[in-house]
Amino acid sequence: MNQENWTAVDAYFTDTLLDPDPVLDEVLARCERAGLPAINVAPNQGKLLYLLACMKGARRILEIGTLGGYSTIWLARALPEGGMVVSLERDERYAALAEKNVELAGQAGRVEIRCGLAVETLERMIGDDEAPFDLVFIDADKENNPRYLELSLALSRPGTVIIGDNVVRRGQVADAATKDPDVQGVQRFCEMMADHTRLTATAIQTVGSKGWDGFSLALVA
Ligand code: SAM
Repeated sequence: MNQENWTAVDAYFTDTLLDPDPVLDEVLARCERAGLPAINVAPNQGKLLYLLACMKGARRILEIGTLGGYSTIWLARALPEGGMVVSLERDERYAALAEKNVELAGQAGRVEIRCGLAVETLERMIGDDEAPFDLVFIDADKENNPRYLELSLALSRPGTVIIGDNVVRRGQVADAATKDPDVQGVQRFCEMMADHTRLTATAIQTVGSKGWDGFSLALVA
């Protein structure tokens, strides 16, 4: 099996199970025209996030890592009336485009993009006693994943679901001798999820149009 097979199977699932989505196609086209890296989730992964948020009945969703707002829009679409996605992005240009994309998708009223370093934004949110979130999607710099987990926990309640993206790192996650700070961040993140008394967690490796990757899933007690 190789990338060609994985891409073909993803295309099959996306064509079969997802409705045509000119709005999200335009969002991706805008991101490409603006030179953003194509590191957004794939369409079938976006729909997985949407379904998880629907199953959870999430009213308040926290996303760490907005990019052009592609996954943000999937998450926002899952919200009930009165729900809100707060998405954190350090790059002002990405955040500005994400805001335009969220507006194009008709989700502007229920998405708030906060620009700045996510650790600082999260610390401010905790200091401001922000209400807990029902679902957290961690998808920014993996080196900071351990800190994102701690801060997400401080913004969680019993029942909160915490999803981590890109936990496979081309298989290096299984390399105890790695010196890569992003891989070390993911390893520490996994260890913390295993050790934390409030968390029950697992991780799944996946293949698809985005290559070999995977995500973690944790439930807060
Ligand atoms: N969730 C997006 C999607 O699927 O459409 C993709 C997010 S992309 C993988 C990671 C994003 O995190 C990038 O836009 C990057 O600028 C942002 N990022 C990286 N480090 C960050 C930090 N320290 N604080 C906030 N955002 C950060």
